[in-house]
Amino acid sequence: MSLPPELELRGLAVSPGIAIGRAVVLSDRAPEVLRFQLEEEALPAEIQRFEEAQESAHQEILRSQKKMREELGSDLAGIFEAQAMLLADETLVRAIRRRIRDEGVNAEWAVLRTFEELEERFAAIETDYLRERGEDLRSVVRYLLRSLRGINHHEISEIEGNVVVVADELTPTDVLRLARQRVVAFALETGGKTSHTAIIARGLNLPAVVGLEGITQQVTDESAIVLDGDQGLVVLHPTPQRLEDCERRRQEVSGLEAELVRSRGLASLTRDGVEIELLANLELPEEVDDALRFGCAGVGLYRSEFFYIEKSPELPTEEEHYELLSGLLQALAPRPVVVRTLDLGGRKLNQALVSQPEENPVLGLRGIRLTLARPDILVPQLRALFRVALEGDLRIMIPLVTSLDEARRFLEVCQEVLFDLDREGVAHDPSVPLGAMLEVPAAALLADHFAVEFDFLSIGTNDLIQYSLAVDRNNEHVADLYEALHPSVLRLLETIAKNVEPSVCELSICGEMAADPVLTPFLLGLGLRRLSMSPRSIPIIKERVRSLEIQGLDETVRDCLRLGRASEVRQLLEERYPADDEPTGSAGD
Ligand code: PEP
Ligand code: MG
Repeated sequence: MSLPPELELRGLAVSPGIAIGRAVVLSDRAPEVLRFQLEEEALPAEIQRFEEAQESAHQEILRSQKKMREELGSDLAGIFEAQAMLLADETLVRAIRRRIRDEGVNAEWAVLRTFEELEERFAAIETDYLRERGEDLRSVVRYLLRSLRGINHHEISEIEGNVVVVADELTPTDVLRLARQRVVAFALETGGKTSHTAIIARGLNLPAVVGLEGITQQVTDESAIVLDGDQGLVVLHPTPQRLEDCERRRQEVSGLEAELVRSRGLASLTRDGVEIELLANLELPEEVDDALRFGCAGVGLYRSEFFYIEKSPELPTEEEHYELLSGLLQALAPRPVVVRTLDLGGRKLNQALVSQPEENPVLGLRGIRLTLARPDILVPQLRALFRVALEGDLRIMIPLVTSLDEARRFLEVCQEVLFDLDREGVAHDPSVPLGAMLEVPAAALLADHFAVEFDFLSIGTNDLIQYSLAVDRNNEHVADLYEALHPSVLRLLETIAKNVEPSVCELSICGEMAADPVLTPFLLGLGLRRLSMSPRSIPIIKERVRSLEIQGLDETVRDCLRLGRASEVRQLLEERYPADDEPTGSAGD
């Protein structure tokens, strides 16, 4: 049997690394169907192919039914019973066989046309019951077509091993579960570089490529697949030569990584001796090792929402928060750890955990808006934070603040929590520094006011770019418009930096921009001295920091701010600060 030809697919590189594995397709979509005319002698084999697919789809529906019954009881499992009956219906099966034979067409086409005709007949019947059976029909067609294409229905909990997961989209929750089941990479149709799915894949060192439109239609389960998360490349049915090349590159990358780890001992100083603190953005406790390995000076952003994902559908209790944070502080001591209160909402999590679906969730009840409306979420988290602060250098930060009223309401809740802890005689630290993220233009423009309210502020450029450019950070169709170097974004950053007086309030940056070495001269030129990023970016940015001199960077900032296009800013920065500038000094200085 001849092997299928190699096929290259290009997408958006969102998490680096190279993975080689077999594909598992997670998609509920029906595959696209084309009509093929077959030779007379091919028809018996085509009918047999249909019969085998029908049997395997039938088994799959029975498996889903069993699982549903175990998890949710018999009422809902009845849905599958109706579908299993439809699929086993002899009249229907005969009609499909006949169509293959009489019209000489492929099984997929015969299935689709036969079911379409049946659906038209159902729709014409004036009873709700039969009309609603249309959904069952569509579901059965999906099962049959996927089975004909060699795609099985997979439960996330069953996927593990040397698998590249190919899917339309995955929630951060799915990515987390799959990562823990040791899959090796993700190839997705949708998503953007700063989507939380991408962030979590990076945090867990799993290569990922997104924006691979149509990939779920092109891959079948068990196909050999190579994924290059540096170049945004996915190769189906790789040739032996390709596999060899990828293996070699994989070894090169791990050698490079060892080199990056060795730079941990180098001081994060510019050539003229200014210290730049490089901190880590973390989502999960298992990322702490990497943060330390790559030499973080602390944690500039702990995204606590992933703890809520793990505990979902329950909310974490105060004690569970305490335990998690205590472990975190101990592992990182004596370094500072900034914990962000729950930033749920937008597309980040399973909305069902706390709120109703919203028409426009990115502009909806997310971040601090949600937690202020839900003291049952905010108060236990704050109580745990103020208590555990006795164990290390802890700071508390709130997400998505847009107005001073919101800020004050949050500060009042903190006062109430502290008052209660006092009254109850519970040990706690009342002097925990409190901060806010500046990630909405409204907050950026009021930075001087926020600086008075809070002990520190951190610029969240992932959302700031999304909200100032009106570009959904999760949408691959507008990924090329999501431009960190857009002059409007740079002007907002300058407004913030200009209006936050360092002696009044500490300012840092924790969006992905902090991890882009092209931007390091601009950020340092603005006066930023604390940059927080994914752990693997720390050595790269440190190398950049060590190649720069602070003196003169303010002029670069001024020059950038005069420009009107992102491409011009990039060109200026790349020309003035070429990427291959050698780092200076040696370990320990
Ligand atoms: C940001 O918006 O820049 C940020 C760091 O927060 P998140 O990516 O979690 O939204
Ligand atoms: Mg954000």
